[in-house]
Amino acid sequence: MKVLDLRCAQDHRFEGWFASEDDAQSQISRGLVQCPVCADQAVTRLPSAPRLNLSGATAPAAPVAGKPAEADPQRQAQAALQALYLKAVRQVLAQTEDVGDRFAEEARRMHYDEAPERGIRGKASPEEVRALAEEGIETFPLVVPDALKQTAH
Ligand SMILES: [Zn+2]
Repeated sequence: MKVLDLRCAQDHRFEGWFASEDDAQSQISRGLVQCPVCADQAVTRLPSAPRLNLSGATAPAAPVAGKPAEADPQRQAQAALQALYLKAVRQVLAQTEDVGDRFAEEARRMHYDEAPERGIRGKASPEEVRALAEEGIETFPLVVPDALKQTAH
């Protein structure tokens, strides 16, 4: 699993999950990767997060004889990052109310004190997200990995 920092032409930043470096290049070049905020397909890669040294420039060295692959620190860092991300997404799913297509409506009602303040999640079109931002209502995109979608309800 390869986690890459991506950016669209509108400067929205998000993470993309790919099977491999080649898979990432191929999906991006074919326009299969969309920005979760504005659905832009002009996606470019950002340098990997320096804190984890996941730079694609340094390909993992072939395992040294006698050294188990699990001891590879880069692989461990990736696995740890993946676990952290899944945990964070699970927490958001557990602590928010799924309002589905009524997301923009509910966000507005909370903003204008017509509904109790709480964490909500749901679907919103790029236009709705833009309109909410203009009214001073902040939202953030959450990319839910397919593995968690079955348990999201
Ligand atoms: Zn975007």
